[in-house]
Amino acid sequence: MNSNANTMETGASPLVTLRNVSRRFRSPRGDVVALSDVSFDVNEGEFVTVVGPSGCGKSTVLNIIVGLLEATSGEALFRGKPVTGTNVEIGYVTQSDNLFPWKTILENVSFGLELQGLGAPAERREKALSLMEKVGLKGFEHHFRHELSGGMRQRANIVRTLAYDPPLILLDEPFGPLDAQTRLQLQDLLLNLRTEHEETTFIFITHDLTEAIALADRVVVMTARPGKIREIVPVDLPRPRDIYNVHTDPRFREIYDRIWAHLADEMKGHVA
Ligand code: ADP
Ligand code: MG
Repeated sequence: MNSNANTMETGASPLVTLRNVSRRFRSPRGDVVALSDVSFDVNEGEFVTVVGPSGCGKSTVLNIIVGLLEATSGEALFRGKPVTGTNVEIGYVTQSDNLFPWKTILENVSFGLELQGLGAPAERREKALSLMEKVGLKGFEHHFRHELSGGMRQRANIVRTLAYDPPLILLDEPFGPLDAQTRLQLQDLLLNLRTEHEETTFIFITHDLTEAIALADRVVVMTARPGKIREIVPVDLPRPRDIYNVHTDPRFREIYDRIWAHLADEMKGHVA
């Protein structure tokens, strides 16, 4: 592991710290060690992506950070304090959009603000409308979930989370079920949001290595189960990045090849 890349040398305390985190799942059919001795920091404003073979514990990492699961040993810290119970400050975006089918898209996007008791109703509406416009959902404010394409639902899902300005957004393979063109458009959207929301910290899981590098400041590469950190690779490609061309940079290729060698090695002979 490249320990120099493990913490960026900013001097500020990290937003998220995992310290020697292990997690075992007990089952009558035998225990599963999902994570083994995972340590890394994520600094405020960083965009960190996580890649690793299927079943290596990526989702478990996010669940421990947000407090839905406890570490069996080791600890997770948020702003330097141990995570105890679900942290509602953290936004969590998964593959399923979880939009309420009985609310309009505008109501869905405003709902997070309403839950957090943020702003007067007119203010919430304004904020939701402006975010929806930014992500190309103008004209669909009063539509319902079933009237939207998969890509549009995922846009709505992401802006719903962004609306209340969480300091940390976790995304677990959010573009998994989408077609290649829609994925590119949503990656573009995330790159733009990242530029506009400099303070926001992102931890993004994906099985798409091109996506992982294109979006990231650092890529956390995990081993096959039990998941450990194989390497943390800094992505020193300049920003702003053009999602449609970033992969043509020779430096991109170098980073890709280096991570791919790890992943190929991890995938050989392992059954998820
Ligand atoms: P990934 O997201 O990398 O595909 P997960 O974090 O979902 O992997 O799972 C890692 C391992 O832990 C898998 O072997 C999975 O079967 C096991 N696991 C995850 N969640 C549970 C659970 N709630 N109960 C039992 N085993 C689980
Ligand atoms: Mg997963």
